[in-house]
Amino acid sequence: MKIKPEFNRKSRQAFAADFFIRLAEWYRSKARVLPWRTEIHPYRTWISEVMLQQTQVVTVLPYFQRWMSAFPSVEQLAQSEVRRVEQLWAGLGYYSRARNIHRSAQEIVKFGRWPQNVTEWRALPGIGPYTAGAIASIALNQPEPIVDGNVARVFSRISNIPQHQANQPETWNMAKSYVEQAYLEGIEPRIANQALMELGATVCMPKQALCQDCPVKDYCQGQNRWRELPEPKKRPETVSVEEARFVIQKENTVFLVQNGVQEWRAGLWDFPKAPDVEIALEEFKGYKPLIPPWIQKSVVTRHKISTHVLQIDLGEKKIPVKVGENQLTVFGTGYLGKFFTTTDLPAIASPTRKIITRIMNQEPSLLGI
Ligand code: SF4
Repeated sequence: MKIKPEFNRKSRQAFAADFFIRLAEWYRSKARVLPWRTEIHPYRTWISEVMLQQTQVVTVLPYFQRWMSAFPSVEQLAQSEVRRVEQLWAGLGYYSRARNIHRSAQEIVKFGRWPQNVTEWRALPGIGPYTAGAIASIALNQPEPIVDGNVARVFSRISNIPQHQANQPETWNMAKSYVEQAYLEGIEPRIANQALMELGATVCMPKQALCQDCPVKDYCQGQNRWRELPEPKKRPETVSVEEARFVIQKENTVFLVQNGVQEWRAGLWDFPKAPDVEIALEEFKGYKPLIPPWIQKSVVTRHKISTHVLQIDLGEKKIPVKVGENQLTVFGTGYLGKFFTTTDLPAIASPTRKIITRIMNQEPSLLGI
């Protein structure tokens, strides 16, 4: 029977050399060709890594290409309006990431040079240990650790330790030891780290481990029980949220209000809430609801949201509002807001986008036909 070496045995030098060489060779020959890999630069690594957080590569690809066409340099990004940045981000979720990228770009331009290491990257808004480690190791080729879900899973299976999770110090220590050891063996940090991530993404996958194709199967302690590794994280309980919203339509525009900083989905634009449906409908008498209220269901992180949608089509009538050229207060809702064309929307929450998409997809019942 073949005895497999462990990560932390004293014979690690011999083990490490072969382990790292196999993994690096596999990466060089099998890794997916991706636009942020073919042309390496801190800007491209940074943007791709933020986009890839909780989003699949196949989804990110068109976003990345559009972003690089719109903002080919950090200077152009810094000079752009945040609204334009949010528009290019629309659909990736978590708009705060886009706003942080924009703020960071302005700081980088003001500073006059790119951050040179993990510490400098982490000083920028929204850059945590993962993103900083990714940029330092991939773009700057420095032996810095990175741990995402893929890396944690591979570590757990290779070492046969169920508790490896992406947010645990032990996993980060292992990642540090891994990249430093690889560096000593002559493997570039950008290759070592990306090889591990690629292995987790394409071979040692969450619900399928292709052990026969794995370049390091001879070193894997947990391949016979990979389905149990790592042990699943305890999920927080889901919270059910019921809300009612007005969709005030006029030709090809919808009326949206911006959430305050203290509110849920802060800074995003949303349909006005209907604080009291009866009273609010009273304000719209003569503007009969298009159709009976309907429900849109959405899930946002651990929130299960049921939105009762009250559609009102203004047609040729004027909205019952107070004051303002572009800013209107809708009677009954108490909100300031604006009309937006559906092709030029600001940053909106995903439940709001779903409602607009359903209506614009011309579902006859939702158009009141
Ligand atoms: S041998 Fe199987 S379980 Fe082990 S790292 Fe490779 S793919 Fe994962």
